[in-house]
Amino acid sequence: MKKKIAILGSTGSIGKSTINIIEKDKNNFEVVLLTTHKNVNELIKQIKKLDVKNVIITDNKSFNNFKNKNKIKKLRIFNNYKDLDKIIKKKLDYSMSSISGLAGLEPTLKIINKTKTIAIANKESIICGWDMIKKKLDKFKTTFIPVDSEHFSIWSLIKEDSYESIDKIYITASGGPFLKWPIKKIMKATPTKALKHPNWSMGKKISIDSATMMNKVFEVIETQKIFNLPKSKIKILVHDKSYVHAIVKFKNGITKILAHDTNMKIPIFNSIYNNENKTIQSKNLDIKILNNLNFENIDKKKFSLTKILKIIPNRNTLFETVIISANDELVNLFLKKKITYYELHKKLLSIINFKEFKAYKNKKPRNIAQINQLNKLVRLKIRELCI
Ligand code: NDP
Ligand code: MG
Repeated sequence: MKKKIAILGSTGSIGKSTINIIEKDKNNFEVVLLTTHKNVNELIKQIKKLDVKNVIITDNKSFNNFKNKNKIKKLRIFNNYKDLDKIIKKKLDYSMSSISGLAGLEPTLKIINKTKTIAIANKESIICGWDMIKKKLDKFKTTFIPVDSEHFSIWSLIKEDSYESIDKIYITASGGPFLKWPIKKIMKATPTKALKHPNWSMGKKISIDSATMMNKVFEVIETQKIFNLPKSKIKILVHDKSYVHAIVKFKNGITKILAHDTNMKIPIFNSIYNNENKTIQSKNLDIKILNNLNFENIDKKKFSLTKILKIIPNRNTLFETVIISANDELVNLFLKKKITYYELHKKLLSIINFKEFKAYKNKKPRNIAQINQLNKLVRLKIRELCI
């Protein structure tokens, strides 16, 4: 029987890699749903390639344009994730959550009860809405597979073991484009330079987060939530080869290391074919790389945003939304050249320490509306301060 699947955010970097894997094996898949915000041209290519029956286009203008001009027969076009009930009548086998930003939280929560397995790449949902996600995963007995490469590696390493058996988790950081740059030069970096990741090819926002190391701050929080660990048990190691993605040291003295090519298709492929004996093309083991793995501690002066880890609570709180929203808005402003790389750092460190925002460390997120409202408030404050 064909596997029924949905890809949320199919036109993005993770979405396209997922499509690429599916299209090589398309006789075994029925793509029930693809979604985009605006990128209708890419979506049309995907619809034609995979004979897709339903799409959601969330940007109103793009939705209306496409709906009026569409010539693809039997294609149902929707504008809102509220329509998921109309689209998915029978449980899907697999869904990929790869929308970027907090916009991914609501669709992720909405699809959990409509799919047997959910692979989540969208880190913002995990960071801001983990309590809600976990509750739904448990209630509907949906299998969850993290797709962020470090978390996919940890998940793979401890598959058979319980989370209580973990002593320490190490996640690796490539160091981004500025690993070898002096601080003075880094602080004057332009968006073009910051977007040039040496190892990974990713969306713009996450590329900037890799340059500032904010991506690792987020990944420690993700690890904390998914694997139910205090942050004292999670450490970042700089590993510029990006070959090892995670190391897990267990309480029984055994340490497991997971390595794979620097290619997001590997975690995505394995989330799709979990426990199936399938082959993906990958490079042979390179002894030169193995003999030269190189791990080092983070230079906290150079990557000053890693200081934020000190003030992250060990529980699920609304403060994580403050950090996600503040960083997201500042990255947008930096990409639009409204603030400098230096200002991005300075403002982020100062804003999250505002008394009004620190108060959220004691507040538990109760629903999406509350998270979305706080997201708007933080962004507004940042625009007030920066423009
Ligand atoms: P991209 O920016 O490349 O793609 C994002 C996707 O989400 C696109 O399909 C986009 O549509 C859609 N989208 C954007 N805004 C909205 C919105 N407001 N409502 C609905 N859909 C929207 O992101 P990536 O693929 O790089 O990343 C996706 C997620 O995965 C992020 O959370 C990221 O942190 C995480 N991740 C990514 C990795 C990577 O290698 N890229 C690695 C690990 C995690 P449109 O094309 O129209 O803009
Ligand atoms: Mg990652």
